[in-house]
Amino acid sequence: MNRLSSRIGALVVVACAILSFSASPASAKKTLRVMTYNIHVGVGMDKKLDLQRIADVINRERPDLVGLQEVDRGVKRTEGKDEIAELAAMTRMEYAFAPNLDYQGGKYGVAILSRFPIKRSVHRMFENKREAERRGMLLVEVELDQKPLTFVTTHLDYQFEDGRLFETEQLLRQLTDVKGPLIVVADLNDVPSGSAYQLMRTKFDDAWITSGAKGDGFSYPADKPVKRIDHIFHGKGVRAKKARVIETLASDHVPVVAELEVSHFETQHVAGIDWPRYQDMAVDLMQQYLRIDTSNPPGNEIQATKFFKRIFDQYGIESEVFEYKPGRANIIARLKGNGSKRPIILLNHTDVVTAEPASWEVDPFSAVIRNGYIYGRGALDMKNEGLLHLMTMILLKQEGPPLSRDVIFLGTADEEVNDEGSLWMIANKSDLFKNAEYLLTEGGDNLLHDGAVRIVGVDVAEKAPFWLRVTAGGLPGHGSRPVADSATNRLIRAMSRILDWETPVKLLPAVEKYFRDIAPLQPQPLRSQFANIRESLKDPAFARSLTSQREYNFLLRNTISITMLSGSKQTNVIPNAATCNIDVRLLPGESPEDFLKALTAVIADSTIKIDNVNRFKPPNSSPVDTELFSLIARRTKANHPNAVITTKMLSGYTESQLYRQLGIVAYGWAPIYTTPDDDEGVHGNNERISVKNVREGTREFYEVVRDISRN
Ligand SMILES: [Zn+2]
Repeated sequence: MNRLSSRIGALVVVACAILSFSASPASAKKTLRVMTYNIHVGVGMDKKLDLQRIADVINRERPDLVGLQEVDRGVKRTEGKDEIAELAAMTRMEYAFAPNLDYQGGKYGVAILSRFPIKRSVHRMFENKREAERRGMLLVEVELDQKPLTFVTTHLDYQFEDGRLFETEQLLRQLTDVKGPLIVVADLNDVPSGSAYQLMRTKFDDAWITSGAKGDGFSYPADKPVKRIDHIFHGKGVRAKKARVIETLASDHVPVVAELEVSHFETQHVAGIDWPRYQDMAVDLMQQYLRIDTSNPPGNEIQATKFFKRIFDQYGIESEVFEYKPGRANIIARLKGNGSKRPIILLNHTDVVTAEPASWEVDPFSAVIRNGYIYGRGALDMKNEGLLHLMTMILLKQEGPPLSRDVIFLGTADEEVNDEGSLWMIANKSDLFKNAEYLLTEGGDNLLHDGAVRIVGVDVAEKAPFWLRVTAGGLPGHGSRPVADSATNRLIRAMSRILDWETPVKLLPAVEKYFRDIAPLQPQPLRSQFANIRESLKDPAFARSLTSQREYNFLLRNTISITMLSGSKQTNVIPNAATCNIDVRLLPGESPEDFLKALTAVIADSTIKIDNVNRFKPPNSSPVDTELFSLIARRTKANHPNAVITTKMLSGYTESQLYRQLGIVAYGWAPIYTTPDDDEGVHGNNERISVKNVREGTREFYEVVRDISRN
């Protein structure tokens, strides 16, 4: 037993074999059940001290290892009991105790119960930043299949966020030398958005998240939990299969239990991915990428493909560049899976819209960092997402698990002008990706409000532009002698009928879900009206008021905007033709032929001609009852507990519509969180992305792609 003394004084670790184990309880058993439980010194919600109740909870769950917080030994308030010794006896487990504090003549601290013999234990105190209760960590080593497994528990400061962060820094330092699988359970007194939790996540996975546990994982207070502060973390070589909270009022917290599969005994770097290193790299590569001028026109995307190719080569990721026209190129890179699932495509366009340097505070291609923001054309549309896609490829290659499906990086040219890049790939190289199950690209819309993520909108549907030219003909003449049914007069009458036409309101499932999801953010009576939007729309007054708002109207119907008008070029000439262009946007599922028929009936003038003047992009949508959608929702919820995750239908369009036609489920989503202020930079001036977003987005995006692609 390796004992290390702390500054405060004696180390007290007790390990006693209270019962005889059957031959070797640990052998061949690779699935572990682990619990973290702040027992509130055994005092339940009814204010009664009752250790048997705590023991009953533990015995019911039969965990192999338990981290306990708030444990007394010889303290007056708990009748001088040696709580951990009593609990060990009642649960027939071994124990270790770490007294962090002298209190009422006794000791108070954290403890561990173990079904396996405890081979070694270590208690370390944390330094304090300021006047606060002293805290510490307790580590035990047990054997699983004759290999060491390390289990740690701690309980962080309850008052100060900077105190918790300081303690976490110390904890991570103390764990750097641990070899083999490592599990850390803790009452962090910190929710997932807190800085201590975030720091833990740079080194560890959270079993609640990786297991895909249902529910919010709230563990405090026990009678009406609203906070997730009790956590089970694990490093590499450990996989979380299940996690849940146990309802009980035996303490003021409820315990969290996870089933963990310990698989990689050879693992050396147990502390998981070195996130700070990858995040530094992400920021650096973001800057490099933004410095490449791919303003379209002319595009010159070949420069972007060279940038990507160089990095893919460096990491041994297979990739190929297709220069379909001088200077215009696409790139595809692939990580191979075992083929048991169909591929996922990470699609990003490498061109950017042009920038007017005079209107910018910085050179649009300098990628300078100011006040925590990286500036550059493309920072939000969409070199940022291209960068996350790149980092995900690197991370999967360097750190990822075996893959069940191919992960395909697809960088395309010319999205901002003609979609030439994607159209060329689909026409010439679709064999490389057309069997994909999923695609992620731009189009999502996530709102940051007061520093917190409020709405995460996944683009699952897009309207289709169906641009029409309406032409009226008639007798020409001199303006001094009016012609009653002149081309202009006919056109104006037709336009007037179009203006009066209220296209039918239709509620698509994705839109219905959107209204339901955002309902809780609305004041009454809107809240209940949105929650039951299908019913509410039956009330004509409500439907009218809703569709009179621009941000909702387009979601509910095909829309028409009259945009270009032309008649005579001279005031005194009645022309023989007059035209008007209208920008029609169709809902997913609508047929342009049907719309044209309806429009013709509204115009009710057989002499008027209607022509389609754009390349029609079929309206399109992807289902939301998919594994990928629920994974995005679950992960996002875990990372941003106050966020509403919902579906979005875009009034505009992205390249998703090209790939949805191939039968691929395409979503516009990335963990990029912007304020309305930030969004003004898209196609505008001073486009920028926060460094924080690049850093955290790297991890959030990777984790979703990893989980949808792992074997
Ligand atoms: Zn874009």
